[in-house]
Amino acid sequence: MKFSTSTVISAVVLPALVSAHDFQHNVRHAVHARQAASSAASAATSPAASSAAASGAASSGALTTGASSAVSQAPTASFSLLSSNPNAVPLASINAAAPSQATVPLDTTYAAGATPTVLSSAPPLPNPSSIVISQYPALDKVPPTDSDEVKQWIQEVQNSGINIPGFSPTVAGGCPANPSAVSDSSRCWWTCSGCTRDTDITTCPDKLTWGLTYDDGPSPYTPTLLNYLDEQSLKSTFFVVGSRALSYPATLQAEYMGGHQVAVHTWSHPQLTTLTNEEIIAELGWTKKIIKDVTGVTPNMMRPPYGDIDDRVRAICTAMGLTPVMWTRISTTATFDTGDFDIHSGVTSVSQVLANWENILGNATTINTGFIVLEHDLFQQSVDVATGYILPDALANKYKIQPVVNCVNKPLSDAYIETNDNSTNPPIASGAATLSSGAPGSAQQTGKSGDDSKNSAASPLASSPVALGLFTAVVSLLGSAAAILM
Ligand SMILES: [Zn+2]
Repeated sequence: MKFSTSTVISAVVLPALVSAHDFQHNVRHAVHARQAASSAASAATSPAASSAAASGAASSGALTTGASSAVSQAPTASFSLLSSNPNAVPLASINAAAPSQATVPLDTTYAAGATPTVLSSAPPLPNPSSIVISQYPALDKVPPTDSDEVKQWIQEVQNSGINIPGFSPTVAGGCPANPSAVSDSSRCWWTCSGCTRDTDITTCPDKLTWGLTYDDGPSPYTPTLLNYLDEQSLKSTFFVVGSRALSYPATLQAEYMGGHQVAVHTWSHPQLTTLTNEEIIAELGWTKKIIKDVTGVTPNMMRPPYGDIDDRVRAICTAMGLTPVMWTRISTTATFDTGDFDIHSGVTSVSQVLANWENILGNATTINTGFIVLEHDLFQQSVDVATGYILPDALANKYKIQPVVNCVNKPLSDAYIETNDNSTNPPIASGAATLSSGAPGSAQQTGKSGDDSKNSAASPLASSPVALGLFTAVVSLLGSAAAILM
């Protein structure tokens, strides 16, 4: 057994490195993190060596003291894996300095008119060559709100009858820059309090079931991930950025035709609470449209970038037929976020990500539900750590791994408007009544008492003295990533 009782208890608290996009906070430790990566490289030059060298040290307490101390006091974050991929990229090569790997072609491309074997009522697959890029908004920018398409979606939201709360948008800078919004618990702003509503999917109901998700793709590295998932007969949910879908339509088709769940992750990856209602509608509407134009189906789940959602964003999602999917969070310091996004930029190390993963698994054994984890398929480093280490370890631990739609006990056909027979999905408007009545905080899904997630002062973002400008920096980072990918 990997986790003895004592190990589980010692691993209950995740390091406070809880936000994958806690960019500014982590930048302060970037130098340490790079040192950590290089130490890890010398200590563990092969997957086998890493497992052996790291075993047992996670219970020393070094990983429970917060991000800054974890990085500076424990230059080699420790972890223990039951298994890794024999073909894994060595840990020493998974870092910010890693040269770009050769990308692999898609295993299969699909002819127009094909339908997924797993979806009996799916419409025919569109021809990607029919996609005219100039008919979509500029990549990686919030789309204009005066186009005919967006005007129509705005009208549809109005016609839905869903009441959109009149909260003003938040300003850039996260929680420290928005004290009144933070203190207004009626907003149920997840970013600063961990507040969720019953309409959010935050976990899988069945214990030790993992709702597998990857965000921010498709990217040139997504085929590598798809190949591994195919080899292991695994299916995932992909939260797709509309701009990436326009750039990589064949990869999006491969995800969909391969029986994975495709869902919405906005057009340009903004913090949705900072946008106007019309801009939020444009972000979600264009992403739904490009996915429909490429696959023939319209998703009905979404994930807000950075988890940045409040009741205004929730209401717009409801009006647009989208159910928010978060990642599991059982306290302010125990968020099921691997931190894999930050290896690429050098602000965290692969060993820290694997230590985070080990802590996530330890936390998973303490709750009565399954769990959903934040991971990404945008960068080669995050795909390398997923296919080389995290997924093999999860398989060895015999977790039940499913797309989110399946983990909440629905068939894949319920993930799309066109294939959903409405026998298990409620109609769109039925979730609206709960928007103003759900209990805030993550206690509702964990059943734990004493959850302090409503205390914004304890939030990693709120406690960071340099959080101001955090989101802007991340957007810049994503913008440069996008430029590289294009
Ligand atoms: Zn994202």
